[in-house]
Amino acid sequence: MPDHSAKHLIIGGGIIGCSIAYHLAKSGEKDVVLLEKAALTEGATWHAAGLVGQLRSSRNTTRMLQRSVAMYDRLEDETGLACDWKKTGSLRLAASKDRMLETRRLATMARSFDLEMNIISPDEARSLFPYINITGLEGAAFIPSDGHVDPASLCQSIAAGARLHGATLKQGVEVLDFTVVGGRIAAVTTTKGTYEAETITLATGMWSRELGAKLGLTIPACAIEHQYIVTEPIADFPDGLPTLRDPDRLVY
Ligand SMILES: Cc1cc2nc3c(=O)[nH]c(=O)nc-3n(C[C@H](O)[C@H](O)[C@H](O)COP(=O)(O)OP(=O)(O)OC[C@H]3O[C@@H](n4cnc5c(N)ncnc54)[C@H](O)[C@@H]3O)c2cc1C
Repeated sequence: MPDHSAKHLIIGGGIIGCSIAYHLAKSGEKDVVLLEKAALTEGATWHAAGLVGQLRSSRNTTRMLQRSVAMYDRLEDETGLACDWKKTGSLRLAASKDRMLETRRLATMARSFDLEMNIISPDEARSLFPYINITGLEGAAFIPSDGHVDPASLCQSIAAGARLHGATLKQGVEVLDFTVVGGRIAAVTTTKGTYEAETITLATGMWSRELGAKLGLTIPACAIEHQYIVTEPIADFPDGLPTLRDPDRLVY
């Protein structure tokens, strides 16, 4: 007999696991339990730069990101926890003719997904973000409803929403293994006893490959190196600048 049971068991307390717990509990599902081996946000979520961009090459992913923005708009009122969500818009520079062509195609795609994306001139881009050097710039794309957020606070706010709707979030519980019987997971072994559940979701980000392998699954997730710069506060740095991405120089 397992030590604990849940209807929905979610493994991993990053933004994805917390969001799954929140949406299940908010839609009326009972007995939603999340297990996190360390503390909430301790994985990749804590490291994210916090850029919130909605346009992707698939309609469904774009729609999901539009729904994320709608959620960020209401989350603080719903949970009482601020997440520093700033709808500043996003700028994507086009520093070559080919990039500009690609940018125009992206704008057509955005329109077909009902997402406002404006093609603007180099001067307009500079008026939105005064620090850019517009030499050689062909133009830029601006999405007014994008922005940035503090990822750790956002995750805590979503977690608070999940708890408000009845989900249980357990920290310091690591999933170690699974017992599979007849093609179903009969038990989940953790550092704090065993669990049974009707549905089990792996939301373990870059750890999913190791955990998936225990179930015979090949999950193509791994860590890759990425650099970022953290500065001291910059005096007089204006508030409310849009996020900025320059795909030709691989920086944001
Ligand atoms: C430097 C950097 C910058 C980024 N910038 C952006 C950005 O600007 N915008 C953007 O949208 N995205 C950005 N990302 C990506 C974003 O951070 C991730 O897509 C997101 O955080 C993934 O969330 P997750 O919940 O899937 O994973 P994670 O946050 O990694 O959560 C997985 C959780 O699972 C837990 N776990 C693992 N194994 C077990 C186990 N066996 N038992 C229990 N718990 C377990 C871990 O402790 C962890 O808390 C960035 C990422 C990095 C690294």
